[in-house]
Amino acid sequence: MNLTIEQIQDFKGKYPRQIWSLFFSEMWERFCFYGMRGMLVFFMISELKFGDEQANLQYGATQAFVYAFTFVGGLFADKILGFRKSLFWGGLMMIIGSLILAFEPHQFFFLGIAFTVVGTGFFKPNISTMVGKLYKSDDSRRDAGFSLFYAGINLGALLGGYLCIAIGKGEMLSSVIPENKRWNVAFGLAAIVMVISLINFVFTQRRMGPIGLAPQKILADGTKIALEKWKEYGVYLLSLAFVPLIMVMVAVPQYTDYFMWTVGPLTLIYLFYEMSKVNSSERKKLWAALVFIVFSILFWGIYEQSGGSLSIFAAKNLNKDLLGLDPNGVNNSGGAFFIIFLAPLFGLLWIWLSKRKLEPNTIIKFGLGFIFLGLGFYVLYATRFFADLQGVTSLNIFTIALLVITFGELCLSPIGLSIMTKLSTEKLQGMMMGLWFLASAYGQYVAGIIGAGMATAKEGSSNVDALIAYTEGYKQLGIYALIAGLLLIVISPLIKKLMQEVR
Ligand code: GLN
Repeated sequence: MNLTIEQIQDFKGKYPRQIWSLFFSEMWERFCFYGMRGMLVFFMISELKFGDEQANLQYGATQAFVYAFTFVGGLFADKILGFRKSLFWGGLMMIIGSLILAFEPHQFFFLGIAFTVVGTGFFKPNISTMVGKLYKSDDSRRDAGFSLFYAGINLGALLGGYLCIAIGKGEMLSSVIPENKRWNVAFGLAAIVMVISLINFVFTQRRMGPIGLAPQKILADGTKIALEKWKEYGVYLLSLAFVPLIMVMVAVPQYTDYFMWTVGPLTLIYLFYEMSKVNSSERKKLWAALVFIVFSILFWGIYEQSGGSLSIFAAKNLNKDLLGLDPNGVNNSGGAFFIIFLAPLFGLLWIWLSKRKLEPNTIIKFGLGFIFLGLGFYVLYATRFFADLQGVTSLNIFTIALLVITFGELCLSPIGLSIMTKLSTEKLQGMMMGLWFLASAYGQYVAGIIGAGMATAKEGSSNVDALIAYTEGYKQLGIYALIAGLLLIVISPLIKKLMQEVR
């Protein structure tokens, strides 16, 4: 079944067949990732006896490193491994990481986490790039494909995010799992699903034709030969060498600051170096990609309040007027829940609009993403008008805000993945996808700073004061998002020029 790239890309219907295999591999990977992520803070506090602040800082550090390593993973995929091997290697490291945690979660906690961090860096950007490869450059069905893929991401996130912590805490299966083995089973589950992800990928490979194979060296006479083997092994060794480094970096939160302040400028310098080697048309497209990347930092900075200040807000200021559900549960998983249903619909909407020549281009979609985000934060602000005298307000209204924010996410996040694959040159696909996720690392970082700023505002105060302080903060963030959205729409002619024929 050796398909050519044309046979793959000339597909009939709405989605290429291969997308389903990538969908499932990524779904299980996200199950593992969000499963682990969901357990981190709780495990550090309840089992490792860390203080709240330390646990939160170390959680933030792992999040920053995880997304920062996507740049490394993408870069090595472009230069040496190709997407398939990178993905496989990343998956393997994630399995090792979760197995370490499954067997010795207390003793080797940071070792396990460090393996997972590097592994995710190799897996996450490269599977996304492979989705883009299923499409011809001018295929208008690409955004729909990424929206579907995004539904898979969130299905995994929802299942993993719910099941792992529930097992760890003993809320699920506690009658069959001995109490002292709960965390082992929970981390073990992450390992098992990651094995499923990789097995699924191995079977997928056969239908991927030449997509994701390792880059080759072109000799002076034009013949292509495989790269030297030592380079491949060198990457494996180097990534293993990163493991102890990350363990040290995660342990001292201050290092994360240094890291964030150095890595951003360095990657930009490297990007500019790569940009100097391409032709002017390609360079313009990379500039456009950079604009999207920079805007995405602001988007995630606001959006990621969900993990920080919004979880405190949910715990303190929300009632249970939505079917009696727990407000923190809704805050953690409501977004993913909406996306699973809405993402495929958004995809079909893009295809429907494109057939009628009405599909907004990427810049406008990004602009809409910010506008929905801003409106969503306005609804968060508005929760204060539904509060009782104790400062407790409606979970229903909060959920409406989540829904509006999710509309924004769907206009920006899958579309961002898609536009990276459109604007990158052939040889920089992995790196640019890595850069897209690196921006998420900065987004998380910014989110933490914003959240901390809002938290100081309410120190030692009552629920009512907290409500006022937080909702005031959300109003501000809403305004920033709206301004960013309008700014994008205003500068859209300029970005369009940079993007040339790409829409
Ligand atoms: N939630 C999405 C995912 O896990 C997007 C993450 C991001 O880009 N920050 O893939």
